[in-house]
Amino acid sequence: MKTFTFAVLPGDGIGPEVMESALAVLQKSADRHGFALKHEEAPVGGAGIDQAGKALPDATLDLCRRSEAILFGSVGGPKWENLPPAEQPERASLLPLRKAFSLFANVRPGLLYAELCPASPLKSERIPEGIDMVCIRELTGGIYFGEPKTTRTLEDGDIEAIDTMVYRKSEIERIADVAIATAQGRTKKVCSVDKANVLETSVLWRKVVTEYFAQKAPEIELSHMYVDNAAMQLARDPNQFDVILTENMFGDILSDEMAVICGSLGMLCSASLGVGKNAHDLPFGLYEPAGGTAPDIAGQGIANPCAQILSAALMLRHSFGQDQAASEIESAVRQAVTDGFRTGDIAFGKEAVGTKAMTEAILERL
Ligand code: NAD
Repeated sequence: MKTFTFAVLPGDGIGPEVMESALAVLQKSADRHGFALKHEEAPVGGAGIDQAGKALPDATLDLCRRSEAILFGSVGGPKWENLPPAEQPERASLLPLRKAFSLFANVRPGLLYAELCPASPLKSERIPEGIDMVCIRELTGGIYFGEPKTTRTLEDGDIEAIDTMVYRKSEIERIADVAIATAQGRTKKVCSVDKANVLETSVLWRKVVTEYFAQKAPEIELSHMYVDNAAMQLARDPNQFDVILTENMFGDILSDEMAVICGSLGMLCSASLGVGKNAHDLPFGLYEPAGGTAPDIAGQGIANPCAQILSAALMLRHSFGQDQAASEIESAVRQAVTDGFRTGDIAFGKEAVGTKAMTEAILERL
């Protein structure tokens, strides 16, 4: 029997609550499809600080290294907000994990079911069938990591800060590959977003993407858009996009815009794929909901488990090659919502169910 091993890092706030739901769904999926899942759990974020003195304890990192993927909850909360910035749960756990596993590709589906249109700040008539798109963001290059990165006092007493935006052809090609693979399973339409009218890195980005797509995937319809226009177009008509491919900072901003137009954070999942391959010759990845620890509702049993469950489905697809199992989970979540099961964040006047009842509804439909 095929066996997949993954690290479970539930984190803080609603993290452990929704993680329980995701694990139940994964187990049922494994039973149905005849593969085995082995997981071990370890503290991260605030739980890591409380139990082992730091947000990413050594034992947690060791567990991740022994695993083929990481299923991550979310980290942080008021209890740890007064720590120095470098020790804060998010910064001191997610960033080192991204670095340790060279997680260069952030895959963020932007999905809004038609029946949840009221959750979007956009007028429902603009998105009558909801929203279905994916943002592929380069995650380890660009202005967040380029050197020099410094602040200095000049001879005339003025102060200057410098960030450097750097991209290599090889970095652009490997993220283009992820966009190609994603588009192959969808409508074969990719929009590459840059600022090629101003930035050297964007001129290279556009050239490399154009040449790479022509060579590797000529069947995919590739378009280009400046980032300022993309921000407007997302708010005006999001369904003109299917797959957006973009660099780190532009992706940071656009993927959050995409999240807000898709309504509740409780429905949005993400994958961060690494350069390394696991024992199944598939990418090592970290899978997590787009939202945070929701301290306002933590511990009440009312969090929406869908984002965590959909993140688990992404893990099955990308790191374990179980595309059909992943699609079934996605359909079960959709069917539960269509059948009227809603947690408070997506209820809109309908009766709201708690985390457990929502999970049960999804399990029944799987
Ligand atoms: P948040 O995403 O935790 O919450 C924003 C709003 O969305 C809240 O009203 C919350 O109740 C709601 N929400 C989020 N997920 C939900 C779910 N699954 N079901 C129902 N409602 C949900 O953002 P915030 O309040 O800005 O941050 C809270 C803490 O989370 C902070 O400490 C922040 O640093 C941390 N955070 C962590 C991550 C991460 O671990 N990747 C990401 C974002 C924020």
